[in-house]
Amino acid sequence: MKLQSFNSVLFSAFIFCFLSCNTYQAQTQVKPQKSIEQKVDSIIQLMTLDEKLGQLNLPSSGDITTGQAKSSDIAKKIEEGRVGGLFNIKTVEKILEVQKVAMEKSRLKIPLLFGMDVIHGYETTFPIPLGLSSSWDMPMIEKTARIAAIEASADGINWTFSPMVDLSRDARWGRVSEGSGEDVYLGSQIAIAMVKGYQGTDLTDNKTIMACVKHFALYGASEAGRDYNTVDMSRIKMYNDFLPPYKAAIDAGVGSVMASFNEIDGIPATGNKWLMTDLLRTDWGFDGFVVTDYTGINEMVDHGMGDLQAVSAMAINAGIDMDMVGEGLLTTLEKSYKEGKVSMETIDTAVKRILTAKYELGLFDDPYKYCDVNRAKTEIFTDEHRAFARKVSAESMVLLKNDKQTLPLKKSGTIALIGPLANNAVNMAGTWSVATKQEKSIPLLEGLKTVVGDKAKILYAKGSNLAKDLEYEKRVTMFGKDIPRDGRTDKQMLDEALEIASKSDVIIAALGESAEMSGESSSRTNLDIPQIQKDLLQALLKTGKPVVLVMFTGRPLTIQEEVETVPAILNVWFPGSEAGLAISDVLFGDVNPSGKLTATFPRNVGQIPIYYNHKNTGRPLNNKEGIFEKFRSNYLDVRNEPLFPFGYGLSYTTFDYSNLKLSTNQIDMNGTIDVSVDVKNSGNYDGKEVVQLYIRDLVGSVTRPVKELKAFEKVEIKKGETKTVTFKLTVEDLKFYNSNLNFVAEPGQFHVFVGTNSDTTMKAEFELKN
Ligand code: BGC
Repeated sequence: MKLQSFNSVLFSAFIFCFLSCNTYQAQTQVKPQKSIEQKVDSIIQLMTLDEKLGQLNLPSSGDITTGQAKSSDIAKKIEEGRVGGLFNIKTVEKILEVQKVAMEKSRLKIPLLFGMDVIHGYETTFPIPLGLSSSWDMPMIEKTARIAAIEASADGINWTFSPMVDLSRDARWGRVSEGSGEDVYLGSQIAIAMVKGYQGTDLTDNKTIMACVKHFALYGASEAGRDYNTVDMSRIKMYNDFLPPYKAAIDAGVGSVMASFNEIDGIPATGNKWLMTDLLRTDWGFDGFVVTDYTGINEMVDHGMGDLQAVSAMAINAGIDMDMVGEGLLTTLEKSYKEGKVSMETIDTAVKRILTAKYELGLFDDPYKYCDVNRAKTEIFTDEHRAFARKVSAESMVLLKNDKQTLPLKKSGTIALIGPLANNAVNMAGTWSVATKQEKSIPLLEGLKTVVGDKAKILYAKGSNLAKDLEYEKRVTMFGKDIPRDGRTDKQMLDEALEIASKSDVIIAALGESAEMSGESSSRTNLDIPQIQKDLLQALLKTGKPVVLVMFTGRPLTIQEEVETVPAILNVWFPGSEAGLAISDVLFGDVNPSGKLTATFPRNVGQIPIYYNHKNTGRPLNNKEGIFEKFRSNYLDVRNEPLFPFGYGLSYTTFDYSNLKLSTNQIDMNGTIDVSVDVKNSGNYDGKEVVQLYIRDLVGSVTRPVKELKAFEKVEIKKGETKTVTFKLTVEDLKFYNSNLNFVAEPGQFHVFVGTNSDTTMKAEFELKN
């Protein structure tokens, strides 16, 4: 495979013309897919082994700053054809420069992929994914991904490391903030919406980007909620609960997959052939490419899989195509090839997949198609995108408690805004918001002032630091997401807060986690609001004034004490760039909250893992109150039920459910059932309700969950109005993986539950007959 004798300039020109020739397809009447295959094959024949390995290499942008891309270390590698793509590089100007290096200086002139963690928006930042999922609004979620794709593509990016679809039932794990919660059905719907949003219907459109579903697989089930930890799970649980969201993304056409850090069945995912080839390719038919996570190959050395050469061979033989950062493939595969440990066919297969992706993105036709400097000026962080983000943020907030209609607040009188998160822009976008301009986010103080105008007086005090322990505080305010430490004593800060509280009609306490208390490598064993903030809150409550807790968080927190003592709690997650405005919209009732939890809130950490769709035991509790019973499945010191169940969330209005009807009480294996229910808005505000449908399969060949979400609809209902919501259940909805891992529906009785959250008891029954 040595082609050094070629006149490289002439040769490259020929290749590029050949590959990009638009008339080729028309003349030969070959189907587009076929023509890509042929083009890729012809390129591969011309590549040296080193150039092939270069395509598998994905470094981080490293030392590139604008204006010196050409002289950076990475540029040298690109010139040598030793880079397939680059990530963590921002701005169209830089990307343009780097792409030029590939197109003008490298022998084969193969365009580069430019990746980035565009997770919940680009510069216009939407709520963290856990917050987004709480909107239960699929078209809206799809549109957030669409806008993210428009902004990212305008800035040179053609590939995002999203959606993250790792299902998790462990709030200790910091990355629950990046996913869609605990449910397989909802998680799968969101996976589809995100892929559609990023990729659109035409990947060659310069406003769409390639998505990457991650982290394949089971990353959210790490033991003890500690990041990167071991995963050990039965196949039946994988198939029924944890794998479907990845599969949904693949069925939706996602272009790439990212391997997870954890092991599966004792073999790290990055080197797991069963996972990457048997399941992903053979069973699921995935034909895109697989990238490792950051140094995922190298980390297999610490997993105990051998030295770098061994783990690199293991990874490519398992089905990995691209190596993020670690350069194990780049630096060791030639040796492994010579020693017969990796075949040329295996290397070619990986190269083909990456080149095919580049074709599918249209990069061979126009390597600069994402490098339109004018687009970057006009399509990023636009008023229109920000207005949409404000709406989305408000829709994602979950009203957890609202005694005596404390909320909505009136735009009058004097309002005290107190707390370390009340006036902090840089934390508002939350974790994994690498492209955002943190300082441009709107903090709550500014949002409140804008929304109330001169109708009410706003007083502000910080009240406390984020946490008492300075070292801890440093660990959780990284990446510029600072909450400047106040030089005053705790008492001085508290006194100031109590002083303004005493002058106010109502107190808004803006408390909770900082952005970096959740996210990657941010596992916690204590899920309380930091003690110093809890103390502040209790002191504010003692004033006797009404207190509203606005809670910032990236995960379910343990807030039993707050729920017992504070009259109103609004969970706002990390709302994104329009945070302050969106929170104010909800606080004053301009938007009626409609978010519903997608992850169970435990009473204490000891209840974890806790999730609504658990199995029954042979010794379930008999009493509904969850009071202790000897020799039944429960705890001595805490009841079984969570603090807030999956699907929970209040509104300023009330919804009454009635008239649950099934179109039939018996179906056969081809049948369908219509399930309808009347939902009345019986309160004083127009509002939106997420109507949820769960089933229970009463008898199975394997144990079945006590409830499983199978459908939902978010409906807008005017006050006084009643809407009939109808769902269609098919036999597909009744299927599950049995102990032979066959996907089957088994005859027998089913319960259908419909209601406002997963705790609903409104039910009907039907039978599935053979
Ligand atoms: C994370 C991935 C991310 C990658 C690239 C890793 O540490 O696990 O989710 O896509 O870094 O930034």
